[in-house]
Amino acid sequence: MKRYFVCYYHEIILKGKNRPFFEKRLTQNVQRALKGLPYSSIRRISGRVLVKLTSDSPVEQIGARLQKVFGLVYCCPAWLSVQDMEVLQEDLWKLVSPRKFETFKIDSRRANKKYPLSSQQMNELLGDVIRTRSGQTVRLEGPELTCYVDIVEDYAFLYFRKLKGVNGLPVSSSGKVVVLMSGGIDSPVAAFKVLKRGCRAIFVHFHSLPHTTPESLDKVRRLVSILTEYQYRSKIYMIPFAELQRQVVAFTPAETRVILYRRLMMRLAEEIARREGAHALVTGDSIGQVASQTLENLRVISDATQLPILRPLIGEDKEEIIAVARRIGTFPISILPHEDCCSLFVPRHPETRAKLDGIQRIESRLEINSMVQEALKQMQTETIEFQGQMEQEAISR
Ligand code: ATP
Ligand code: MG
Repeated sequence: MKRYFVCYYHEIILKGKNRPFFEKRLTQNVQRALKGLPYSSIRRISGRVLVKLTSDSPVEQIGARLQKVFGLVYCCPAWLSVQDMEVLQEDLWKLVSPRKFETFKIDSRRANKKYPLSSQQMNELLGDVIRTRSGQTVRLEGPELTCYVDIVEDYAFLYFRKLKGVNGLPVSSSGKVVVLMSGGIDSPVAAFKVLKRGCRAIFVHFHSLPHTTPESLDKVRRLVSILTEYQYRSKIYMIPFAELQRQVVAFTPAETRVILYRRLMMRLAEEIARREGAHALVTGDSIGQVASQTLENLRVISDATQLPILRPLIGEDKEEIIAVARRIGTFPISILPHEDCCSLFVPRHPETRAKLDGIQRIESRLEINSMVQEALKQMQTETIEFQGQMEQEAISR
């Protein structure tokens, strides 16, 4: 029997005019996710993406890759049978007979409504064969073995495992955003959340070289590599921030520095967004987590840009953010020691209730425009391509 992966996606959210667009993206993303692994073909049929395997396809590795494709709900390693019930019964028995189990059930569905049998009838006909030949009992709640049958178009698939997908929307189906990416715990999780909703992320990192070490850039690269497993190709803008900080330190009071840094970051990120055609900025802020994230300060920081600032973690506690960071694998990298640009030159008692007019008055002492232009001239871009390495590392561990 030919091997396939049958991948299911949420049909409900894809209904309407945009459906073909979403489906095309999803199929392209599956193709990009499987880069470098042997398989025969990828094809989309009603509500499913089919990956036809070859005899040397690594099933577990392909499953692990598919489990990171946003938009997929389940990925099922399947065998292709035929719709004729007698053959289907024999094929199912061939697959079931080597397995050890005492209780089982059949879980059939048919997307092809022309098929002469209802799913209930299929369950009974297939269940009878397994029960009489194996001597084991049917249990509908919590059986040891579930045999899934899917009749769709001309296909009849059999499978026993449903690998949980990451859900969400296909990456690149919602447009571009600029993610302000520090080396901390929060911003990679914020990035993950917008990727999940179909955004393509452009990363911006502000560094204070030579006051910080080059390792802080490596940390950002490693974090972006993990996120690249979901969007396959990432661009990072590395923007030098030390000179801007020097001027802020020279001309402004210590308490307001972090707010001024953040406003400068917003202006720079907005310029990148303009160049990239991105529609919003994304940060890892959460209300009250640190002094710069009080409501008052967030408001003053937001004022520095015309673009909407998306803050996907706004209502999350640190523990909740850490749980996601662990799950996606960014946490161990985020906690490596490093100096963030904003941990330099900050006072012990920063402003927590900034007022816009006060901040604007202080800012007028600075040559904001030329500071921004100078930093843009000096920035460098890097591209990270998906290599599929992370998950290979995970499998070999
Ligand atoms: P994180 O864990 O993401 O660093 P944090 O709790 O340390 O967050 P802050 O340092 O106040 O919070 O930063 C708030 C947000 O500002 C970050 O989530 C990030 O989006 C952005 N940011 C901070 N520092 C940088 C930086 N050096 N480069 C790019 N963005 C940054
Ligand atoms: Mg930080």
